[in-house]
Amino acid sequence: MRLYVFDLGSLTSDRNLMVSMSHIAKIDDPECCNSLMEFPVPGFLIETEMGYILYDTGCHPDCMGENGRWPEAFQKQVYYRGDESNWIVTKLKQLGIKPEEIKTVVLSHMHNDHAGCIEYFPNAQFIVHRDEFDACIRCYATHRYMDSYIWKDTDVWIRQRHDWKFLENEDGDYELCPGVTILNLGAGHARGVLGLLVELEETGAVIVTSDAVYCSDNYEYEQAPGVIYDTLGWKRSLQRIKYIAKKKNAQVWFGHDRRQFDQLKLAPEFFYE
Ligand SMILES: [Zn+2]
Repeated sequence: MRLYVFDLGSLTSDRNLMVSMSHIAKIDDPECCNSLMEFPVPGFLIETEMGYILYDTGCHPDCMGENGRWPEAFQKQVYYRGDESNWIVTKLKQLGIKPEEIKTVVLSHMHNDHAGCIEYFPNAQFIVHRDEFDACIRCYATHRYMDSYIWKDTDVWIRQRHDWKFLENEDGDYELCPGVTILNLGAGHARGVLGLLVELEETGAVIVTSDAVYCSDNYEYEQAPGVIYDTLGWKRSLQRIKYIAKKKNAQVWFGHDRRQFDQLKLAPEFFYE
């Protein structure tokens, strides 16, 4: 089994979105300025005996610009940098894999930077938390543009026929194949977040948290992110990740941590096995 890590571009946004209230005015710092920070958008591919499993798809290549898929105000708030080389389809091509060959796509959740490229995988079964899917469809139906569910992305894939599999809170974790388990983390950052536990022969166990934990500050100091749907749920999912990490002696790979990401070995040159 091999685990590939993809660099799918980067986002730049306010620091308070990453770690809530990290920059606030105080009596001795009344003019405290917010500041921007840049962070990576990762994607993951697991090569298994039952085929390829893709975990998250990144942003749509046409998300930015005048006729971009993301609303103008949203583009300014969550500024994406990336080109064709960061597109998930390019990353797969570099490994000699066509999108049609991907049989399973796990969406950690359905926000802009994770579910932007659903339309490119016609033969995949998409696995997603039901509450997340429902929220995305509700935003689409009611034309709510300022949520992180991108209306124009949904407008394309909703016309295609995809195979969807939904996990609910009661379903618990879900073993995709020996060594690859979806961690059903429930509501927190979003309505329903799915993490991944990959147990590799040489590397050992790796927990890929996606946005259940943005970065090490959220993890170490248990400081919630600014983008949050269920605060108590977020704390519960954090405790659960810590528990599994301890039990499995696992590395924990965060969703958008620049410092950590720069130390990972990236595809196509490298992989974990
Ligand atoms: Zn994200």
